[in-house]
Amino acid sequence: MKIFNTLTRKKEEFVPVTPGKAGIYVCGPTVYDYIHIGNARPMIVFDTLRRYLEFRGYDVNYVSNFTDVDDKIIRRALEENVDPFEISERFIKECKTDMEALNVRPATTHPQATLEIPDMIEMIRQLIEKGHAYHVNGTVYFRTRSFDGYGKLSHKNIDDLESGHRDEAHQLKVSGEDEKEDPLDFVLWKPKKEGEPFWESPWGEGRPGWHLECSVMSKKYIGGTLDIHAGGEDLIFPHHENEIAQSEAANGTTFSNYWMHNGFLKIDNEKMSKSLGNFFTVREICEKYDPQVIRFFMLSAQYRSPLNFSADLIESAKAGLERIQNGAEKLKDIIAKQNGKEMSAEEERILKEELPAFVDKFDAAMDDDLNTADAISAIFELIRFTNASTDENSSSEFAKKLYETLFTLSDTVLGIHPERKADAVSEEEVAKIEQLIMERTAAKKEKNFARADEIRDELAAMGIVIKDTREGVKWQRA
Ligand code: AMP
Ligand code: ZN
Repeated sequence: MKIFNTLTRKKEEFVPVTPGKAGIYVCGPTVYDYIHIGNARPMIVFDTLRRYLEFRGYDVNYVSNFTDVDDKIIRRALEENVDPFEISERFIKECKTDMEALNVRPATTHPQATLEIPDMIEMIRQLIEKGHAYHVNGTVYFRTRSFDGYGKLSHKNIDDLESGHRDEAHQLKVSGEDEKEDPLDFVLWKPKKEGEPFWESPWGEGRPGWHLECSVMSKKYIGGTLDIHAGGEDLIFPHHENEIAQSEAANGTTFSNYWMHNGFLKIDNEKMSKSLGNFFTVREICEKYDPQVIRFFMLSAQYRSPLNFSADLIESAKAGLERIQNGAEKLKDIIAKQNGKEMSAEEERILKEELPAFVDKFDAAMDDDLNTADAISAIFELIRFTNASTDENSSSEFAKKLYETLFTLSDTVLGIHPERKADAVSEEEVAKIEQLIMERTAAKKEKNFARADEIRDELAAMGIVIKDTREGVKWQRA
C-alpha cells in the first residue's frame, strides 16, 4: 500500500516497523461538547485505514486519545458550575455513541490525558535532564532550538518562524509572560490557576501542555516508533511538529515513520469549526439521515481533498448509499428464495474469471493512498455487474458468493452497511400502537366505524399500516 507521507510529501510504500503489524496513533477530540461532522472526518477516514490494513492481514494496534483536560473543558465546567471531569466524562460518552452510530470501531486503546499524568511528568523530567527543557516559576518550556529537526513535518524554516513570532514575542513581553528563553519555546507543564484541576509535580501544582499528551500516550500504548501518526491537517503545525520535537528529543528514535493528514470538511469554503460557529454536530445530521449516509459522504472523497458540506452533497451521498443497498437487496432476495439450484458452468466461470477484477480494482484504489472515492466507484461497478449477471433464474449459491464479495468490500472494509436499516420502533411507540389497535377493535365492536377509520388514519400518520387477519390485527412500518 502507498501512503502520502506529510513528512516527505511523497507517496511511499508502507513498510511497518514489525512485519505484519501496524501501530497507528490518531489525535482524538477535545471533549467539551458534541463532536461536529468535521471531527468525524478523521475518525471515519482512519477507521477505514485500520479496517483496510486488517483486511490485508495486518495486526493493527489503533490508539486514539481523548483530550480531557483543556481550557475549553474548564470554561464549560465553570459555565455549568460543575466539575470539569463531569464535562469530559459526559462528552466522552456522547462521542462514543456517535462513533458507534458512524460504525467507527472502538480503538484498541482510548487513553485519556488525565489518567497518564505520571508518565507525562517522567517525559518532562527526561527532557530537562537532556537539556531540551527548562523550568521557570512553575512553568516548564521545551527549548525548541535545541531540537535540530524542528520544522521538518510542516516544512517550515525555524528562522522564518522566529520572524513570524516577533509580534507574539512583543505581546508576551507586554503581558508579562516573558520568561521564555526564546519565543519559539512551548509549554510542557503549566502552573495551576485558581479553580482549575491540577496535579502535583516536581515543578509545583499544575497540568501538562496539550502537545505532551500525544507524545507520552503514543509511546506507552504503541512504542518508541509509530508506524503511522494521523490527524486533521490543522494539527500539522504546531501540534504534530511539537510532538516530534518532544518525542525524538526524549527517546532518541524516529517518532513516526508515516504522517497522514486529512483535509478539512468545509462549509461555504470555510473550515467547519466550533469557533467559527459554522458547524453541524453528528447528532443533528443523524436526526435527518441514517448515520451511514455521513460515513458514505466522508468516504466519497479521497481523505486529503477538501470536502465541502452541503444539502445537495449529503442528498447525493444518500442516493449513493441506496444504490449499494438496492444492489444488495436484489442479491438477498435471490438468496432468500433458496432455489437449491446447482451453480451453472457460466456462473462458476463468472465467479472465477470476472468477479476478481472488481476486487482488484477496489484494492488498487485503496492501495493508492486510501482512495476511497475510487474504491466506491469499484463497488458501483460491482453492483452494475451483479445486477446484469443475476435474475430470478440465478442459483442462490451464485447470488450468495456475489453478496459475500459486496459485503466484504462495503461493510468489512469501508464500514458501510449494504443493508438498509429498518427504522426501529421504540417501546413507547409499540405501546401507543397497541393501545390504538385495541381502541379500534372496541370501536368496531360497537359499530362505530367512523372512529375505527379515524384510528386507522392516525396510525397511518405515524407511518404504521395495519392489516386485519384471521389471527387478529397485524401492524408494520409503511
Ligand atoms: P479538535 O477536537 O478540534 O482537536 O479536533 C479533533 C480532530 O478533528 C482533529 O484531528 C482535527 O484535525 C479534526 N478536525 C476538526 N475540524 C475539522 C474539519 N473541519 N475538517 C476535518 N477535520 C477536522
Ligand atoms: Zn495529538
